[in-house]
Amino acid sequence: MTRDILDRLEVQQGDITRLRVDAIVNAANRSLLGGGGVDGAIHRAAGPGLLEACRKIGGCPTGEARITPGYRLPAAYVIHTVGPVYSGKSQDARLLADCYRNSLRLAAENTVRTIAFPAISCGVYGYPIQEACTIAVDTTAAVLPELSGIEKVIFILFSSGDKAVYDTYLEGLKQARQ
Ligand code: ADP
Repeated sequence: MTRDILDRLEVQQGDITRLRVDAIVNAANRSLLGGGGVDGAIHRAAGPGLLEACRKIGGCPTGEARITPGYRLPAAYVIHTVGPVYSGKSQDARLLADCYRNSLRLAAENTVRTIAFPAISCGVYGYPIQEACTIAVDTTAAVLPELSGIEKVIFILFSSGDKAVYDTYLEGLKQARQ
């Protein structure tokens, strides 16, 4: 992992629906018909057009990703991905990595340059934040070299505790490369 890949990653604390980026990622469920948490917040902020678009897509398997416009959001696109419900089995990590990889590839196909991720699966789906952070950052850093159009990936965390986990992990990676 080279230093400039890490320079394309950023950690923020806040509400993903407020971000003026090309695409925000939604931690959706397989129906794509809306839920609580970040999904509910994104649908509220985007307005009814988003639910209509999601209904037409007709669902999404765990680990895959689908794209819609952002409607009333500042973001042009929403990329909906379905994280695993944490079970403690090895398939969890594979499916969570798939979410990041597939979302980033779909973003690049749509010429997205800036994209923000919430902590997929770390709310109702129960994924431990430390493990999820490692998967999110490592998968993103591994796929970015083949996606040169993506300039900035923001990991946006709702809580200061979750943000500290990401800050510490990224800082460790940066120091290891110096
Ligand atoms: P999942 O069902 O994938 O676990 P949740 O929406 O329950 O998804 O939670 C995913 C993460 O998103 C949690 O860490 C939660 O704190 C966070 N979250 C909830 N609302 C927002 C928001 N508006 N912006 C950013 N992150 C959010």
